[in-house]
Amino acid sequence: MTVSLDLTADTTRDALRATPAKGELIGLTREELAEALITSGVVPERQAKMRVQQLWHWLYVRGVSDFADMFNISKDLRAELAKHFTISRPEIVEEQISSDGTRKWLFRFPPRGAGRPVEIETVYIPEEGRGTLCISSQVGCTLTCSFCHTGTQKLVRNLTAEEILAQLLTARDRLGDFPDRDTPAGAIVPAEGRKVSNIVMMGMGEPLYNFEAVKKALLIASDGDGLALSKRRITLSTSGVVPEIFRTGEEIGVMLAISLHATNDDLRDLLVPINKKFPLNELMDACRKYPGLSNARRITFEYVMLKDINDSLEDAKALVKLLKGVPAKINLIPFNPWPGSNYQCSDWEQIEKFADYINQAGYASPIRTPRGRDILAACGQLKSESERLKKSERLALEAMMIAGHGEA
Ligand code: SAH
Ligand code: SF4
Repeated sequence: MTVSLDLTADTTRDALRATPAKGELIGLTREELAEALITSGVVPERQAKMRVQQLWHWLYVRGVSDFADMFNISKDLRAELAKHFTISRPEIVEEQISSDGTRKWLFRFPPRGAGRPVEIETVYIPEEGRGTLCISSQVGCTLTCSFCHTGTQKLVRNLTAEEILAQLLTARDRLGDFPDRDTPAGAIVPAEGRKVSNIVMMGMGEPLYNFEAVKKALLIASDGDGLALSKRRITLSTSGVVPEIFRTGEEIGVMLAISLHATNDDLRDLLVPINKKFPLNELMDACRKYPGLSNARRITFEYVMLKDINDSLEDAKALVKLLKGVPAKINLIPFNPWPGSNYQCSDWEQIEKFADYINQAGYASPIRTPRGRDILAACGQLKSESERLKKSERLALEAMMIAGHGEA
């Protein structure tokens, strides 16, 4: 069953409050936040450090989205802050809840400068013992991987650090995942732990083509005095932007995933065209040099299972050979179809054979269970804004999935 809530009416007020002319405070580093407060004249220089600390707590520990809720800040100062700045959330255009508990949100952000509003999708996947939020880094993607739905939507623009973080903050709002009060010992977090325990940069877009904004957002998400997600619970997935891989480890320090999908250049050129620019030997070299790499901190190699394209036992052997010497995990992803896609998902039996071979070679190789298929929330199915599916296309897709391998 799919529950679809239209939250537009509830959030219109918030959207109106998000006047783009006001400065955004979310997504700024502490230094930038201090500077914004001082140069706007809202806070005198000598108070800046203390105010930054207060704001940081409200924004990232308590998750407030209205200055009025910051009760340890004077009413006058709250009014001044609200006059100059905004901390409001994006509009929630749609929230869908899958029969398996997966949630997908369509968020709308106000225009940047002269641009148009943009819409992006974010997915929440609850699992036993953890909850993963799949975050987008761009609206659309400049790359054109032939099996990916996002790749058919041309890049509209990079998301800002604020927009990347807003996905996490808004998801936490909707999941009731912020503590609702402070005690002298600190904020009270929900008893059963956080609903969003992990984040993956695996939504729409290529995060390493938006390096600076992604870096800022992830450093704030992992800041110990704020959102406090461990860097080991943050994974950035790239199609292979080789020149940025070392910096990712050095400057962000999160876990790395590589969308590999093929073990030779001829096939990878077709599936992941960025391979023509950064071929496999360069990619594997960059992986070997990834800072902090060890058996306890492995790189995840994602491998989409495409029937008769990359799923033979020969391919499995080539994969094991290619990864030799790299601390690696292999994540097999059953291909998720979308209208107009030219591929089929491998047969389940074949996926298992492939996985068995890899397991025997000593690799953990979980098969990623497709989640939220009924709401088109699975990997590679995200595609936003005006190009969202028409009802007829959605029905055609459902038929395709049933005819294919429904519950892989
Ligand atoms: N752009 C980044 C991150 C987003 S895609 C990247 O490519 O790594 C997240 C993962 O989903 C990638 O491994 C991507 O190759 C995979 N994917 C894309 N389309 C898919 C589809 N239709 N079925 C299954 N996996 C897909
Ligand atoms: Fe872009 Fe990743 Fe899709 Fe390739 S797989 S088109 S890099 S989002």
